[in-house]
Amino acid sequence: MPRRFVAALEGMTLTDADIAALANDLDEASSIVWESYRSVGISLGLHDCWASAIKAPNGKISGILALYSRNQHKVADWPKKIVSGAVPFCGVVIEQYEARQHISQLANYDPLTGFLNRSSLHKVLKTMISQPGDNRFAVLLLDLDRFRDINDALGHIQGDTFLKAIAERLKTLCRSNYILSRSGGDDFVIVIPNATAETAVNFIKATTEAMQRPLEVAGNHLSASFSTGIATFPENGPDGESLISHAEVAMRQAKKEARGSYRLVSTVDTKEAQDRLVLGSALRDALAKGLLNLHYQPQIEARTGEIYGVEALSRWNHPTLGNIFPSRFIAVAEETGQIEAIGRWSLEEACRQITQWERDGVHIPVVSVNLSAGHFHNRSLVPMIADLLRKYGLAPERLTVEITESVMMDESDETMNVLSAIRKLGVGLSMDDFGTGFSSLSRLTRLPLTEIKIDRSFIMNLETDPNAQAVTTAVIGIGNRLGMTVVTEGVETEAQYDLLESLHCDVLQGYLFAKPMSATDLEIWYREPRKLMPAMKKGSDK
Ligand code: C2E
Ligand code: MG
Ligand code: MG
Repeated sequence: MPRRFVAALEGMTLTDADIAALANDLDEASSIVWESYRSVGISLGLHDCWASAIKAPNGKISGILALYSRNQHKVADWPKKIVSGAVPFCGVVIEQYEARQHISQLANYDPLTGFLNRSSLHKVLKTMISQPGDNRFAVLLLDLDRFRDINDALGHIQGDTFLKAIAERLKTLCRSNYILSRSGGDDFVIVIPNATAETAVNFIKATTEAMQRPLEVAGNHLSASFSTGIATFPENGPDGESLISHAEVAMRQAKKEARGSYRLVSTVDTKEAQDRLVLGSALRDALAKGLLNLHYQPQIEARTGEIYGVEALSRWNHPTLGNIFPSRFIAVAEETGQIEAIGRWSLEEACRQITQWERDGVHIPVVSVNLSAGHFHNRSLVPMIADLLRKYGLAPERLTVEITESVMMDESDETMNVLSAIRKLGVGLSMDDFGTGFSSLSRLTRLPLTEIKIDRSFIMNLETDPNAQAVTTAVIGIGNRLGMTVVTEGVETEAQYDLLESLHCDVLQGYLFAKPMSATDLEIWYREPRKLMPAMKKGSDK
């Protein structure tokens, strides 16, 4: 085909009128692609044209197939036959192509905004990272502020319209090489190639300003505000996954401090988040391999110096790092969803150990196990404890579950039901670290508690701080009156012990008597109690 003729036809589209005419008569096609081009065609040596509209199998007119001839004389009717023979195949091919386009659109793009969806964004980031040379870029995570209010006020359909309008405006603010993505919800991710944090900050400042111009949604004038987290490659993470998750942490921080603001991922945050990730997966591994164990700390009856029970405390025996303390890994377990597994494991291990001790002639009346708040949303905790008691043939009074004030603060029926069900089994319920949270005394009376543990911070200052002494005295009084056993944690000195005994505290736990120790060490300690218990010494002094 002469290049000039191609240029003349290029970009030609069928109008609605054309399509209506073609649907009536497929041969109308030649009037569209030839009649008004005839003089150009002839000047370029094209003398005739055979054309037919292409009808896809679904009946839609999807194009025109035209055959042009340089021959000045009519050539029988074979060109016409070629056209009519080829047209049905063209229809099928075009329809398949459109279907494939549609599927790929669905798979790769967010249908609402036409931006990349999450999985294609990750693919793009992967390609960008694998590029050699200067491949730095910035990732901006923009989270719309108060979108839920807009959704609630206007309904989801108008909420979508608002998102669409925002997307359109964002697009006008971005250069053509920026990558825009929406992963659902009210989060947008914008990737700026070859950008430093400074470029990203300038962009977000301009965007914030431009977004203040209101958008019209169903007659309402709404302006959009975003909280933004900004991460840069390679400083803030080695892959798309970590860059986006760090940008998310920074975005949350921005939202907390001031809506509509932005925050850069700091390398400190990145390091901490990476540590948590590493620790989390190492913990999963440790749990599977049985590298966690329990240490036991004795609790002593203040009046008699007899052993009241032990508290089971988790230890993670790391092959190279040694014993890792719960202050480091319990929070990680809570964040990475492993705390329930740890709870189930420690309950079983504690029940197994107390029966094992019993068989070995070591009588430990009660073992206390710490459980985090998350456990109490799960109804399966109760049958699980019942099964354990049955399995080890253990009387329910031999087990106590320690809960924290965050469990006590949770007023949901679910939690209350689980707590009462545990208590109904006959298992003890202890309020750990009492006095550190914001729980009220009135809630104490409404929970089925058997025990309160006064937090170590009060005992620490007991001798010097009259406030700590007042609180301790009051809690011991209330606990006793409510029929609960009062335990004090962190008793380290004989002076504290004397004072607590005079305040009629029931049970004492702390380094003064013994540190948490392995099951074997506890057995040794048990067999020679006098040597280690000043309570006994004191008792004999009297
Ligand atoms: P907690 O339940 O209040 O446990 C008492 C903590 O105080 C223990 O720390 C214990 O070693 C320490 N301690 C005891 N006596 C003294 C003392 O005289 N002086 C001082 N300075 N400290 C004393 P540990 O073992 O590091 O446990 C820390 C916390 O981790 C526990 O506090 C408990 O809340 C949590 N925890 C431990 N094991 C588990 C577990 O298996 N599951 C859950 N959810 N939490 C656990
Ligand atoms: Mg405890
Ligand atoms: Mg405690």
